[in-house]
Amino acid sequence: MKPGASQAHINLVVEAIGHQGYKAHPIPGAQGTAIGVTGNTGPVNPEPFLKLEGVLSCIPVSRPYKLVNRDAKKEGSTIKVAGISIGAGSFTVMAGPCAVESQEQILTTAQAVKDSGASILRGGAFKPRTSPYAFQGLKEEGLALLKEARARTGLPIITEAKDVETLPLVAEAADIIQIGARNMQNFSLLEAAGEQPKPVMLKRGLSSTVAEWLMAAEYIAARGNLQIILCERGVRTFETTTRNTLDLGILPSLRELTHLPIIVDPSHGTGHAASVPYLAQAAVAVGADGVMVEVHPDPSRALSDGPQSLNFEQFEALMHGVRAVASALNKPLSHV
Ligand code: PEP
Ligand code: MN
Repeated sequence: MKPGASQAHINLVVEAIGHQGYKAHPIPGAQGTAIGVTGNTGPVNPEPFLKLEGVLSCIPVSRPYKLVNRDAKKEGSTIKVAGISIGAGSFTVMAGPCAVESQEQILTTAQAVKDSGASILRGGAFKPRTSPYAFQGLKEEGLALLKEARARTGLPIITEAKDVETLPLVAEAADIIQIGARNMQNFSLLEAAGEQPKPVMLKRGLSSTVAEWLMAAEYIAARGNLQIILCERGVRTFETTTRNTLDLGILPSLRELTHLPIIVDPSHGTGHAASVPYLAQAAVAVGADGVMVEVHPDPSRALSDGPQSLNFEQFEALMHGVRAVASALNKPLSHV
């Protein structure tokens, strides 16, 4: 749509798309609204739409992911959470423990990461663990503790939804719902996340291609939720020196393929605390919209992902490095 198109004009186009038997997906943006069209089996005839008032152009999107495609929306999308804009040219740091373990652990970590400059608190309450015998998270109690940490610090919270059954509980508590690598192709969960209004951060699957990842994001978008953030967290390769191979090389291409904001997780991406600050700096340099970093008061005692978790001092040092690179690139850091 043209930049100044009115809501009435947008509504008429949405109606016209419906009359053709297609589904319309308005995608609002600062420079105007794009309206995605799905449900077509062949090429869409642009003629009837081009005649409508307010229509700027009709752009065919050839890739199978349509709504998250950069062709559908030239400007990058911004996800707003509690006064923070993820993807608006600033750099957002999400930090916190892998799992919420106790009231003291989450409250002290929340305050420490806030003091060092993080603007979103992470912490898993429902943990998808490789072993059924490993700590599975504090579940509802973990969500309550995250809420308490948010109330005390003002930091919005991101936490993982592990399955369709517990999604409503997580959605009620969280400011951003995380869908983990192991669930990237849990299509029922993606659809359910698409049918509720909270923003969703979709992590890349353990061995997923970019195309598969974007198709997974499309599942969420197709159900009506375009508030999606992508998170590169490393993929499995032949290399075993690191836990995963953090695929920073895709960032510039990913930017061209999608308008969604991109976060990098150097903690799961490397598996080693000592590597995390370097890769966090690299994430700024390669154009990410932010990082997600695991921080624990005493990583040696963490119930999950201790080896890749930073203590408060190490996180403070990471923030120095991130600030230096961000300021060299004129990227402001997000603040709560
Ligand atoms: C996590 O963020 O703690 C997590 C389980 O991440 P991933 O899904 O990327 O393994
Ligand atoms: Mn973890």
